[in-house]
Amino acid sequence: MKLDKQTLLDYRYLRMARVWAENSYCKRRQVGALVVKDKMIISDGYNGTPSGFENVCEDETGTTHPYVLHAEANAITKLARSGNNSDGSTLYVTASPCIECAKLIIQSGIKRVVYAEKYRLTEGIDLLKRANIEVEYLNIEDNESE
Ligand SMILES: [Zn+2]
Repeated sequence: MKLDKQTLLDYRYLRMARVWAENSYCKRRQVGALVVKDKMIISDGYNGTPSGFENVCEDETGTTHPYVLHAEANAITKLARSGNNSDGSTLYVTASPCIECAKLIIQSGIKRVVYAEKYRLTEGIDLLKRANIEVEYLNIEDNESE
């Protein structure tokens, strides 16, 4: 299968997001996100606790603390402190966005979402589609080398 230029870039950015997820100190699940605009990475994020909190995502029973921010939320809120703006950008995320992150994605003006891992609940994806955001699923496992 011959991939067009944009699809090749999409795979590469998504793989970069997966590498970025390795920064996460969460044990249950590590998720990474990148915000790309005009071929520049303008923000990045991985799931974790807010600034100043202990770098522990789960309690002693292994349940994720409710104050842990998702990778998408961290990438978007990081933009709020930077000089960049996400209007018209693309979000690459290694997991299917949840409904809370979908709301943030819509409000931040992101126009396209490329994600890697499907989730049983599709309410986040459904909301993005409803807001006319282009949503694309890529299987990075099947496309390790090109
Ligand atoms: Zn989320």
